[in-house]
Amino acid sequence: SGKALIKGEPDASSFPNGGLRSTFEARGYTYWDCSSPVFVKDNTLFIPTIFISFNGESLDKKAPLLKSLDAISEQATRIVNIFGDKDVKKVDVMIGIEQEYFLVDKEQFMNRKDLLLTGRTLIGSMPTKGQEFEDHYFGAIPSRVDAFMREVDEELWKLGIYAATEHNEAAPGQFEIAPLFTSCNIGVDQNHLVMDILKKIALKHNMVCLLHEKPFAGINGSGKHNNWSLVTDNGQNLFEPGDKPHENVRFLLFTCAVIEAVDKNPELLRMAASGAGNDHRLGANEAPPAIISIFMGNLERLLLQLENGELTPDKPEHSMEKALSNISYLPKDNTDRNRTSPFAFTGNKFEFRMVGSSRSSSTPNFILNTMVAESLDKIANRLESYKLKQDIREAALKICSEIIKKHKRILFSGDGYSQEWLEEAKSRGLSNIPTFVESIEYFVKEDSIELFEKHNVLHRHEMIARADILYEQYAKTMRVEVLTMVDMIDKLVIPAINKEIRDFADGLHALGTNNYYTKKINTLGIAIDDIDQKKTKLLEELNKAWSYTSYKDKGVAFVNGVTKAMEDLRIAVDNVEPIISTKNYPLPSYEEMFFHLEY
Ligand code: ADP
Ligand code: MG
Repeated sequence: SGKALIKGEPDASSFPNGGLRSTFEARGYTYWDCSSPVFVKDNTLFIPTIFISFNGESLDKKAPLLKSLDAISEQATRIVNIFGDKDVKKVDVMIGIEQEYFLVDKEQFMNRKDLLLTGRTLIGSMPTKGQEFEDHYFGAIPSRVDAFMREVDEELWKLGIYAATEHNEAAPGQFEIAPLFTSCNIGVDQNHLVMDILKKIALKHNMVCLLHEKPFAGINGSGKHNNWSLVTDNGQNLFEPGDKPHENVRFLLFTCAVIEAVDKNPELLRMAASGAGNDHRLGANEAPPAIISIFMGNLERLLLQLENGELTPDKPEHSMEKALSNISYLPKDNTDRNRTSPFAFTGNKFEFRMVGSSRSSSTPNFILNTMVAESLDKIANRLESYKLKQDIREAALKICSEIIKKHKRILFSGDGYSQEWLEEAKSRGLSNIPTFVESIEYFVKEDSIELFEKHNVLHRHEMIARADILYEQYAKTMRVEVLTMVDMIDKLVIPAINKEIRDFADGLHALGTNNYYTKKINTLGIAIDDIDQKKTKLLEELNKAWSYTSYKDKGVAFVNGVTKAMEDLRIAVDNVEPIISTKNYPLPSYEEMFFHLEY
């Protein structure tokens, strides 16, 4: 019946709930989210829903997102109204999510237990060629991948999703798709569908789509750039600086609200963007570091002027010099690109570039929406008492000046990958949380709980439950990785080395004596001992970490001991892989996985 579509009652017991209820209290309810379109996929009608427990707690990522959208709309509308646009009743968050991914041949994938079980390669040595030629991004799309992208397009069109861009990414075997931006709730749903379709269609082309943040060491990882803006119900983008940003007080005010929100809650953004996988990517010279800063490009100069109140226009330099004779006008953007910034202003939107490719984009968005709603709320409270246009402008500029004075430390338009920035950021007092697990506790700090409760996005016990789930997921992910790594070494790597030793022993036997053969056999024997020792150490660290009762303590112990032991073991294995003959090594190599796709 229609009624059953509006409200459903699935069993909620086998769903992570962070201790919100016991398994026997299994009742959960789905409610139709009418603001996101229903769709038909695989001959099935899908209805976007929120998912709540018997007691009304949010169990999903959609309910808090919808609530955060209400919160930011309410506060942004107040300010737009104060600035004279009384007709505006609603402000929408718009998002466009760039999704990066890898493709590998299906047969190779099936022969890699690590990819199959953990989404990333746990061992694997770099081939003689990587991405150093920087020729992949602008290179031609391999025809096999082109055929795949065409089919992805067609499937997405059926769901009302339109790709704006599709292209090769920096690493071999890496690609990206970005749909046209749309309102936030729909955009998040669409990104989930995009991930699903990428995986399904890849299989049809005998490939597997990897959404992990770091499937391969030594080449770039994958992110999910979250482009974010605020647009009124009559179509005005509140981050559009226009031709004269120095006179556009409303733009400056909204921009300052974002600056304040980001500087006050960098840890929340860091947490929202991450998972176990993103730790391998952030700060690895291919993605922004774990330090949050904001890139404002040319506008940084203007914003810094706000502090002292004297705003001067940018030099009138709107077209680039010496255009070609057949191109009469080349407009210059008001911001350059800065690939190294985690949070960059790009013309009329902010691009949050830290998010991991496998993450749900709901979390970074509901967190960003809520923290900006809070800044806007405080600003609206201060402005509401003014009636005259001139007074409102003056008060707004004063607020901007205060915000810049207090929060300008977050503005950084230089190279975020450089060592100098790490030091500079430290001296500015910016937080740099190196690992995901260490960022989780900031989500359940009193300030954060107060923020989310105030805007009715999440309540205390829901937040605590969510943090518990994150700890649990992290610890379990790490444990599965360790066990898989050890299993591969026992069943595949050591037997391969052994075969190699036997081959050389045969050779030595035939020759009687031979220095090279003897040396080779010794080297391989030493390698096995080395691997065995490091494997034992890793298992010790795993047991130590796993012996803690709480998932939080387990997680912290993983960071301290296990990750280092994993790295050491990996180095030992990766050192031996290149000296084993191809016929004896059972795992598809990085070389095959990077380069065979193109042919
Ligand atoms: P990049 O230049 O970072 O590679 P892309 O062109 O690949 O960016 O993707 C940019 C994304 O931003 C697209 O999804 C696009 O639709 C989206 N976008 C463009 N304008 C806005 C806006 N005002 N608000 C939100 N998203 C936007
Ligand atoms: Mg981008």
